[in-house]
Amino acid sequence: MAEKSCSNSSCSKESCEGCPSAKQPQSFLEELNSYSEVKHVIGIVSGKGGVGKSMATASLANLLASKGYRVGIMDADITGPSIPRMYGLAGPAEAGEEGIYPVLTDNDIKVMSINLLMPDPETPVIWRGPVLANMVKQFWKDVIWGELDYLLVDMPPGTGDVPLTVFQSLPVDGIVIVTSPQDLVKMIVKKAFNMAATMNIPVLGMIENYSYLKCPDCGKEISVFGKSRIEEVSKELQVAVLGKMPIDPRLTELSDAGEFAQAVNPYLDGAFAALQLLNVKAKD
Ligand code: ADP
Repeated sequence: MAEKSCSNSSCSKESCEGCPSAKQPQSFLEELNSYSEVKHVIGIVSGKGGVGKSMATASLANLLASKGYRVGIMDADITGPSIPRMYGLAGPAEAGEEGIYPVLTDNDIKVMSINLLMPDPETPVIWRGPVLANMVKQFWKDVIWGELDYLLVDMPPGTGDVPLTVFQSLPVDGIVIVTSPQDLVKMIVKKAFNMAATMNIPVLGMIENYSYLKCPDCGKEISVFGKSRIEEVSKELQVAVLGKMPIDPRLTELSDAGEFAQAVNPYLDGAFAALQLLNVKAKD
């Protein structure tokens, strides 16, 4: 007779497969603040810094807000937070017994960032990985987000402690990968893709930034960072390209001036369609 492999002595099955009393995998999901209701959580990720992940996050947030959705941005890029600066927001965020209140942008996006909690935004955050990761959990548990259709999480670049914590602790519906043509695109996108796959999180698509620069005189598109290989990667991984953003000085200007609430990024309409597939109805 075959040896029984199920470790549960009260189980009559020979293998753990299908055993009703088999142990469920442990869930690391953190509970959301009881004053909040967040319908969808989207992670915006990149392989390395500077590719325009925050630009993509804020552009998507503006787009969703302009269509009537209730949007929040969790700035999980704790050692390089740029969201408050883009929207001209300053702390300290208000806190009460029930939790911390996010700060509102001029276009009604709720933002939480370490820079809204530190007395001086120029103080560097020199914490080790586990402390950073804990901060992100607090952004979920202790921030009073209220009712949100979308919470966009601006992740730190790479696949370290903080992205891992976000994936494990928050109910992430999907990720958007931001990349640039000069990246070692395939490898970097594949790393992010594989991390999401390991955590069972769908990849909603990729955004290529710095795709080209349009000559203001003749309109010619110049591929400043070389030829794009995103279509190739998209085919191989079966992941949609949600948009290609050119280098657009108007976007930099609004971002640098802290006036990003006014920014309309016309290059991400495909991304809007992908986020809508999540079936969220805009508020009336
Ligand atoms: P990351 O979050 O990946 O580190 P950021 O979004 O902060 O990168 O972008 C880095 C800098 O490049 C910022 O100053 C931002 O305003 C600028 N930038 C990003 N994307 C564009 C773009 N498409 N056009 C013009 N400026 C951009």
